[in-house]
Amino acid sequence: MKNPKWTRDELILALDLYFRCPPSKTNKNNKEIVALSDLLNSLPIHPQKFEYEKFRNPNGVYMKLCNFLRFDPNYSGVGLKAGGKLEEEIWYEFSGDIEKLRKVSQAIINSSSEVPRPTEYEEDEDEFEEGRLLTKLHKIRERSPAISRKKKTEVLRKTGKLECEACGFDFHKFYGDIGLGVAECHHTKPISELKKGEKTKLSDLSILCANCHRIIHKSKPMFSVEQLKKRIKR
Ligand SMILES: [Zn+2]
Ligand SMILES: [Zn+2]
Repeated sequence: MKNPKWTRDELILALDLYFRCPPSKTNKNNKEIVALSDLLNSLPIHPQKFEYEKFRNPNGVYMKLCNFLRFDPNYSGVGLKAGGKLEEEIWYEFSGDIEKLRKVSQAIINSSSEVPRPTEYEEDEDEFEEGRLLTKLHKIRERSPAISRKKKTEVLRKTGKLECEACGFDFHKFYGDIGLGVAECHHTKPISELKKGEKTKLSDLSILCANCHRIIHKSKPMFSVEQLKKRIKR
C-alpha cells in the first residue's frame, strides 16, 4: 500500500529539520532524522494503518529533506527534481522566517496530545497554513460548548443580538425564533501563538455566521475578521 501524501504539518516539521540538519551534509542515519521519523509515526495526522510498511522511515524523511534542496539558493548542487507542489509552497511560506518555522513546529508537536487520531484517511479538509493538527486544535477550542455559550451570552447581553461580525447576518432576524442563539464562534488568534496550556479568552473569539466562518477557514494566510469584512464591502 502506498504511503499517504505528506501533509503541511509533516512538511513544516521536515523543513524545520532541514535548516538544523542540511541533507547535503548528512545521511539517513543521522540521529535527528531518525527522531523525526519516530515523531512522524507518532503524530495523529493519518489513521493508524499498519499496512504502510515504510511509513515515514528514516530514508523517506531524508529524501524529503533532499526535496527541499532545489529551492535553496545556498545549495549549489542539483537537488532532487521530483517533489510536490506543496513542498514549494511550504518553502516559500516558511524559509524566510526560521523563528516562525520553529514556533509553528513546536506548536504542532505540542498539539498532538489534544487532537484525536482520525479513523479515516482525510483529504481536502480546509486547513490553515500551519497545517492539519493546528487547524483541528483551533476547531476543538472554538467549538468547546462551554466557552462558546459564554461568548454568545456575553454578546447578547451587551448588544441584544448575535450578528456576524464580518457580514452582519443575524440568524434570529432572518429565520425567526428557530434562529435564536445560532451563530458560530471563531478563534481569532493563530493557535501557534498561544502558550502551552493557555486558556481561550472570550476576547479572542469572534461571532461569525457559518458562511463567513467557512471562508475564513479556507483563507491562507487566515483572514482577520476585519479583512473579511472589507472584502465583503467591496
Ligand atoms: Zn457572515
Ligand atoms: Zn474558526
